Amino acid sequence: MERTCETGGVAARIEELKKRHGGDLVILGHHYQSDDVIRHVDIVGDSLELARRIPEIEARNIVFCGVYFMAESACLLARPGQKVFLPDHEADCAMARMARAEDVERVLERLAASGRKVVPLAYVNSSLAVKAVVGRFGGAVCTSSNAKVMLEWALGQGEAVLFLPDRNLGRNTARTLGIAAGEQALLDLAGDNLDSEEVRRARLILWPGCCPIHDRLMKPEMVDAFHSHFPGCRVLVHPECTPEVVDRCDGAGSTAYLIKEVEKAAAEGKESTLCIGTEFHLVHRLMEKFAGRLNVIPLAQASCADMEKVTAERLLATLEGLEEGRGEVLVDEALKAPARDSLVRMLENCR
Ligand code: SF4
Repeated sequence: MERTCETGGVAARIEELKKRHGGDLVILGHHYQSDDVIRHVDIVGDSLELARRIPEIEARNIVFCGVYFMAESACLLARPGQKVFLPDHEADCAMARMARAEDVERVLERLAASGRKVVPLAYVNSSLAVKAVVGRFGGAVCTSSNAKVMLEWALGQGEAVLFLPDRNLGRNTARTLGIAAGEQALLDLAGDNLDSEEVRRARLILWPGCCPIHDRLMKPEMVDAFHSHFPGCRVLVHPECTPEVVDRCDGAGSTAYLIKEVEKAAAEGKESTLCIGTEFHLVHRLMEKFAGRLNVIPLAQASCADMEKVTAERLLATLEGLEEGRGEVLVDEALKAPARDSLVRMLENCR
């Protein structure tokens, strides 16, 4: 009871501050945020949707409820004078941490020294410093919604592509383009296989990163178990899951795709049950939203600990300290131009 009152007090105070800041404030939130945060958000979306909305925002202050790389991307796309805030700077993406800019730069220099033109393609889940390296090497950024279009683009720019940091998204996207396993090579950073025959021959070189939530917590046997309990029902997953999971599923796609499929199934009323394999906060929200019309089941109770670092209490603290710059994200000016190049190449190819 006490906790409910406290939570209610925080929510009321956030709404009060939103009202006070009026048109000077916009709160953005990723679908993986908790309901306690999402209820205060003005624009909800996945990383591509949110990046696309930034240029149209006129408010002086943008509070981003998501993880660090998303707030960095918002800084790149924001107008001069706009400020971007992240309620918890410790909210970093575990996958993004798997590709350090200095390692990416070293690998690209070694690949360039071999004489081949290798174009880097970075999943948006990477740091600003990595995006800057990618931009300097003529590469681009992609999201899970446009990975196929962007991989085709990157393949057309050179002899090979370095896809980073998510090996699963890279492999799953390669399959949709008919790139055989024999044309792909997984980097072994510790073993240093850059000069190996496998890497030298590959059209697609994969960075050995992954999302721990989708890679480790969603297993092929879970898909099999669902299919045997609910014969004829579909399992749809995010392409950050392993190819072995995607293989057994009935569809894979971005967060936006998963939401649309649930909405379509609920509207058509032809399916009784749908299993969704992605971050739990989003699946839980879909379960509640469509209860009584469609039985939405999570493939796994997998929530992102980094996304959970942004709480209603931290959002409130950010709003209370807005004028003093509490939680403001400041990016290195020198990285902005090359990082923006990599983002703009994506936005131009995926209008
Ligand atoms: S769910 Fe995975 S990819 Fe998304 S923010 Fe969390 S760790 Fe990163």
